[in-house]
Amino acid sequence: MKLSKYFLPTLKELPKDAEVMSHRLMLRAGMIRQASSGIYIWLPLGHAVLKKIEHIIREEQTNAGAIELLMPTIQSADIWKKSGRYDDYGAEMLRMKDRHNRDILYGPTNEEQITDISSHYFKSYKTLPKILFHIQWKFRDEVRPRFGVMRCKEFLMKDSYSFDVTEEDGKESYNKMFLSYLKTFQRMGLKAVPMQAESGPIGGNLSHEFIILANTGESKVYVDKRMLELNIPESIDYEKDSKGTVESWTKYYAVTEDMYDEKSFEKNVDEENRLVMRGIEVGHVFYFGDKYTKPFNANVQDKDGTISPIQSGSYGIGVSRLVAAVIEASHDEKGIIWPESVSPFDTALINLNPKNDELVNICDNLYNKMLSSQTVLYDDTSNSVGEKLTRMDLIGIPKQIILGNKSVENKTLEIKDRRSGETVIENIDKFLEHLNNDKPS
Ligand code: ATP
Ligand code: MG
Repeated sequence: MKLSKYFLPTLKELPKDAEVMSHRLMLRAGMIRQASSGIYIWLPLGHAVLKKIEHIIREEQTNAGAIELLMPTIQSADIWKKSGRYDDYGAEMLRMKDRHNRDILYGPTNEEQITDISSHYFKSYKTLPKILFHIQWKFRDEVRPRFGVMRCKEFLMKDSYSFDVTEEDGKESYNKMFLSYLKTFQRMGLKAVPMQAESGPIGGNLSHEFIILANTGESKVYVDKRMLELNIPESIDYEKDSKGTVESWTKYYAVTEDMYDEKSFEKNVDEENRLVMRGIEVGHVFYFGDKYTKPFNANVQDKDGTISPIQSGSYGIGVSRLVAAVIEASHDEKGIIWPESVSPFDTALINLNPKNDELVNICDNLYNKMLSSQTVLYDDTSNSVGEKLTRMDLIGIPKQIILGNKSVENKTLEIKDRRSGETVIENIDKFLEHLNNDKPS
């Protein structure tokens, strides 16, 4: 993408009213724009990152055996009356009426919708187990939307739902999703710590939140430091490797404020291992057995002919919140530093002097060749050198290729690593050679 043709409304001034770094940087980098309170427009750069994050989540869900579908944003109030949550959900639910005066709502989550689906299709043990997921916008009329897309009203969520015949199988599905969450966040360069959680209005008896440790987080957390040293296998076979995941990842104390108990923290964690911090909730998993399937008469017949409610669980990831969480975890005083896996472009190419025709030829040629193996943001504008470098650092593409007048004489370019700031000078022909070798076959 040539920057001269792109739409990247970066801001020079510090946005007022933005309290946390990720919000400030998202506004300054031209990633989002507020449409109204708690509702955001995803500008092209923000949208590109959102899609990258979505892609990783989708891939890791699929690897874990989950199947994607897409449910509507607007739901009938009838299914929520069936589960008893229409009244319970309170003012966070955006309620509307259609032209026939029927109660409808903008979905804050999809347990009801998916359980209704399960009641129609999963009647025999032969159809189970199943884990279904979708990535869809949600609306919650938050009292106090804040921190940009971190806590807003309209947000993108990945939500999965598991359906099993027995509780034992249900727990296996829970383990699979648990492991896929650990892997998903790791792929984004994040260390997410699973913590025992209250199941809240969604209900059930087994629940964990996945929390990124960050001082700007909204939840206070109490963690045994040894938690941070746990690792998952390099390559994962979900059928085999997921067994026992929850057990091994919950052997150390890690809870959010709601579940905190001073006595058990002090009893279970030696003083040197006690970590009290803040964190950002990026995922939440629940196992709730027959809580929803019972009222929906979602019953399944097992091998012996016995009919009983399907065992289910639900698993959410805040896709749009993650964009902010990644920034909270990875930035410096110059701006964002994207981990490669979620960067809006793989590489930035900067021509420091577009008035030099020879240099333009060299850069255009490089750009065209790079495009066959990667996505590139090519600064071909006539902005000042300072502006170009500052803006590229702000938007955080991890690798920058910089060319100036000297590149013509010396036939060299500069490769800058955004994170370390280190630069390497390389011969242009050598660079092109590497490019050919690195090309995916
Ligand atoms: P929170 O405690 O932050 O209000 P929640 O527990 O109500 O969230 P869940 O129902 O567990 O949220 O939703 C699954 C995920 O969706 C959360 O882990 C979070 O990452 C994301 N999420 C929830 N509410 C919001 C919001 N208002 N804005 C952005 N993301 C959100
Ligand atoms: Mg939650």
